[in-house]
Amino acid sequence: MSADSDGLLGFDRDHLWHPYTSTTRPLPVYPVDSAAGVRLRLADGRELIDGMSSWWCAIHGYSHPVLVRALAEQAGRMAHVMFGGLTHEPAVELARLLVELTPAPLDKVFLCDSGSVSVEVALKMALQYQQAMGRPERHRLVTVRGGYHGDTFHAMSVCDPVTGMHTLFERSLPRQLFAPRPECRFGAAWDERDLEPMARLLADRHGEIAAVIVEPVVQGAGGMWFYHPEYLRGLRRLCDRYRVLLIFDEIATGFGRTGTLFAAEHADVAPDIMCLGKAITGGTMTLAATLATTAVATAISEAEPGVFMHGPTFMGNPLACAVACASIRLLLDSPWQERVVAIGRQLQAELEPARDLATVADVRVLGAIGVVETRKPVDMGELQRFFVEQGVWIRPFGRLLYLMPPYIIAPEDLSRLTSALVRAAALVR
Ligand SMILES: *Cc1c(COP(=O)(O)O)cnc(C)c1O
Repeated sequence: MSADSDGLLGFDRDHLWHPYTSTTRPLPVYPVDSAAGVRLRLADGRELIDGMSSWWCAIHGYSHPVLVRALAEQAGRMAHVMFGGLTHEPAVELARLLVELTPAPLDKVFLCDSGSVSVEVALKMALQYQQAMGRPERHRLVTVRGGYHGDTFHAMSVCDPVTGMHTLFERSLPRQLFAPRPECRFGAAWDERDLEPMARLLADRHGEIAAVIVEPVVQGAGGMWFYHPEYLRGLRRLCDRYRVLLIFDEIATGFGRTGTLFAAEHADVAPDIMCLGKAITGGTMTLAATLATTAVATAISEAEPGVFMHGPTFMGNPLACAVACASIRLLLDSPWQERVVAIGRQLQAELEPARDLATVADVRVLGAIGVVETRKPVDMGELQRFFVEQGVWIRPFGRLLYLMPPYIIAPEDLSRLTSALVRAAALVR
């Protein structure tokens, strides 16, 4: 295939838009031929150890036989049927698993196509709920700075205003309310003052607020920041006091990444609405889910127009649901907690030396997430080339070099990732 890869790369450069890229000044891309376990096999035969889990999804590694079989079996039965007026076992089984595994009050499941859509669905639920409760003036959303909730319009409106490029879309973007990023770190002492700006915002403006949306404990693409779970307990109390809904976006944190199955468990609080995505199918297919409490669902269903107004064409896709069920069962049957703890210990031990580098501002680890924050922004193209030469796949952004490997990674492969990452951190000028 390597003989052909010139033609492939040429056509790609001329015609394909990659995530967040320019068509006139494209960054290099690397053709992948196949992937198995924690290894990506490039078209030229080189193998890269994967430190990204393909944007945090491939928790079991690639081409896992259990997931491949689940897909093949479902494909032989039916790849897709519409979800309007029809149902099927893969969707019902997935809902059964999600209701059982997520915090108790969440027991209504809306299946959708991607993380961003599940956030749109959550926000629409919150707006319809407040209308149903006779409070239509509560149409605004509150979040904290440094968040990331997706690329569609309402999701984008609750992303960090700076890294989320709000000025670019100012004229069409809904205006939301922002509290500062929680500053108390996960594992450090809790300081009640961390919640004060949020408490003030809700006290002053709850009459116009429908819901608060946050990524619990770990802010992902907005800055890879880990904050104190006590913040979430305080937030739950405030939302109850002011009759504001609480939405947890667990798209990045769900399915074990932070050491608990869901990050909400660190705080032992339940949201009114929860978004799931990314690792839900083990990185095999696009799928997401929005879960709501019976109270939210009932209020929406009993008021005008009597239905929840959303229904994607590929809702409840049987292939995606079947492979999600297989992935979740595979996770639950595995020693995932011990694996995440072991990965975290090794990340801590092997990334810690980077703290002494003049180029490094911070090193932090939570669950199977390891972050080295540099003082200056990284040159992504240059570092990516360096990583490929080192035989690893790591894609940094901003001032963040991070690892989120598949849970099945062997210690020696993880060491290859951490040593390449620490060497790269020294190169950031
Ligand atoms: C990735 C992500 C999203 C968006 O999911 P997509 O599948 O890319 O649309 C939303 N919220 C969080 C926390 C994410 O990490």
